[in-house]
Amino acid sequence: MKSEMKSIDLTSLKLLAMRDARSALAEGASQLLVCKNCVITPSARDFLAQHNISLVTSGAAKAAVSAAYGQSPAVPATGQLSGNSGAAQNRPAPNPRLFFSPEAEAIKKEICAVGRKLWMRQFVDGNGGNISYRIGPNEVICTPTLVSKFDLTPEDLSMVDLEGNQIAGSKARTSEILLHLEVYKAVPEAKSCVHCHPPHATAYAITGRVPPNLVIPEFEVFIGKVAISPYETPGTAAFAQTVLPFVKTHNTVLLANHGIICWADTVTHAEWYAEVLETYCWTLMLASQLGVPISYISEQKGSDLLAIKKKLGLPDIRFDTSRMKECQLSDLEVPGSIALTPSPCDGNTVRPAETDLEMLVRSVTDAVMETIGAK
Ligand SMILES: [Zn+2]
Repeated sequence: MKSEMKSIDLTSLKLLAMRDARSALAEGASQLLVCKNCVITPSARDFLAQHNISLVTSGAAKAAVSAAYGQSPAVPATGQLSGNSGAAQNRPAPNPRLFFSPEAEAIKKEICAVGRKLWMRQFVDGNGGNISYRIGPNEVICTPTLVSKFDLTPEDLSMVDLEGNQIAGSKARTSEILLHLEVYKAVPEAKSCVHCHPPHATAYAITGRVPPNLVIPEFEVFIGKVAISPYETPGTAAFAQTVLPFVKTHNTVLLANHGIICWADTVTHAEWYAEVLETYCWTLMLASQLGVPISYISEQKGSDLLAIKKKLGLPDIRFDTSRMKECQLSDLEVPGSIALTPSPCDGNTVRPAETDLEMLVRSVTDAVMETIGAK
């Protein structure tokens, strides 16, 4: 600690508001000591960060504060439950000043551009979807709750620590940030997460299916195997942790009855994966209506694609030979995937109208064939 640093003890406060931040500045503070459950208003946090006044939490941050995890504009200083909470003590204290760095300003612009792309492509609806970027070891810039991704501006964004506590930004962070944070804690390579609800990929997610492999090269290289995580109530810690078994070996996960999450090295790349997955699911659905089976890329050619993918440093469960055993590149699918039965109307439930149509087509075909003497 430098000799000129002045620390003020505010551990008696339960709420640290703007007037406290102002008086701390007036007293020449460079550091404020607050209790672990102290609620700090976002404007106070911003003010402190802008004046280089750091916040230090006193006491061990062990208590779980699940109830305070909603969308309130003010959030607890620290102490959030997590699937990887054991590592929380080893992280450096979050640095709110990062939020105003030149790098952060560029990231904020990129997040807004990606938000607009998601909205333009109809991957998000209402205020749905969220985007984040891990800018520091314990700092994540993210989108706010209740703002359409089309309307996002850099001023709307906020920053949280890896426990989900908001440390900068005037708007409350997305309630889905926990999902992103679980990815960051589990995957060191993940720098950005994009969560959205693209209709065709979500159609897979609501039917519990994953798209087949070895159909289109780009999908193999950039995504490959898609996992599907079980349903949980959005915004909860339990929901966030549903992706944990998959995120190390998959950069894209279907969230059952909800949507998708993709992680990547940049915000732009995470959005690309959402595009690649959505287009792939859409194309498969179109192909499944053509009445002829899908042609697959051979296992041998598939290995070439996997080699390209390895060079790019992208994750794929198929690199793990212990999980491959005797199975091949294409057959790790969940039963019921359209890869296994690529003809139309292959679902478990066929609607009566479709059955009627099929019967009509068959009877017309039979009649035509009989007329031309083919029968
Ligand atoms: Zn969602």
